[in-house]
Amino acid sequence: MWHPPPPPASEAERLAELQSYDILDTPPDERFDRITRIASRVYGADVAFLSFIDVNQQWMKSRSCDALHDHIDRDRSVCTLVVASDNEMVIEDMRTAPQLEGHPVAGNLPWRFYAGVPLRGEQGHVIGSLCVMRAEPGAPEAFSTDILRDLAAISSHELVLTKRNAELRRLSNTDALTGLANRRMFDDEFERSWRRARRTGEPASLLLIDLDHFKQVNDGLGHAAGDAVLAAFGEMLPHHARRSDDLAARVGGEEFALLLSGTDPNGATTLAQRLLDDLAAAAIPHPTRGIVSVSIGLATLATGEAAADWYQRADRGLYAAKAAGRATLREG
Ligand code: GH3
Ligand code: MG
Ligand code: MG
Repeated sequence: MWHPPPPPASEAERLAELQSYDILDTPPDERFDRITRIASRVYGADVAFLSFIDVNQQWMKSRSCDALHDHIDRDRSVCTLVVASDNEMVIEDMRTAPQLEGHPVAGNLPWRFYAGVPLRGEQGHVIGSLCVMRAEPGAPEAFSTDILRDLAAISSHELVLTKRNAELRRLSNTDALTGLANRRMFDDEFERSWRRARRTGEPASLLLIDLDHFKQVNDGLGHAAGDAVLAAFGEMLPHHARRSDDLAARVGGEEFALLLSGTDPNGATTLAQRLLDDLAAAAIPHPTRGIVSVSIGLATLATGEAAADWYQRADRGLYAAKAAGRATLREG
């Protein structure tokens, strides 16, 4: 009788490693399709597939032929034996193999020969498998899993590189002190927001926010205290940029920006006022002014306006707010 094998002792770590690659349910990827095409050709296989084995399911990232479903229950997966044994597996005939006796589907598949090798993450856990199957039972002449293992190693390497790239991209777009988007990302998103607003005709507003007399915080309380104030303010800001297209960024030393898609001047003013109120309520100590405050310059994109002019108007608003005594907002 078929009993699905128990998960390996390190199942929790294995699943955590699989999660860390963020690969499940991603669209087809030529890098992996190439691998299954090569495996299929080299082994004269009727199907080759590369799969990941999640809590309850096996998901095919790439398969060389559509006759194979894109996912199956882990309970019914043959590859789950590869995960359980932490080793490659060759089955000459799935219809008669003792380890598959009573298996609900293995005996009825159009394929009889199976060879599967583990796909390992960089921590060594078996997160998936690379397999070939043939309609003919029995190993082809001079069969060896060598090439399959090499292809699995290439696949694992691709996974690791993709993860590293995503991490680098995230780091290069993030400000280390506040965790907000940095200037580089703001510039990209500002340009994008401008193009989107021009195309859709939807409003878009920009708030430039500068901490008032911040130099005095550093001078009075020390640079570390200054950093803590920046971090605290950085934590507040995203609460005011809630829509999915909104962006909160640190665009300079003590200068921040909120990019608000779909927000008109009224909405932006309300939001800016709420930010001033929230910051006053937070009552972060300032050495000469009692509490920390900000000045805000606000501009909603005008019809036909260039991106640089839009930004400059917000900057002029900021300058006007400073001139008006700070802790306030002005439209540019
Ligand atoms: P204003 O109200 O006119 O904006 O006055 P201000 O003192 O805020 O403006 P100013 O441009 O004269 O000074 C900005 C200060 O912000 C000076 C700089 O040392 C400080 N600053 C910039 N980046 C950082 C940072 O990362 N950490 C700390 N602690 N201070 C920073
Ligand atoms: Mg300042
Ligand atoms: Mg400044």
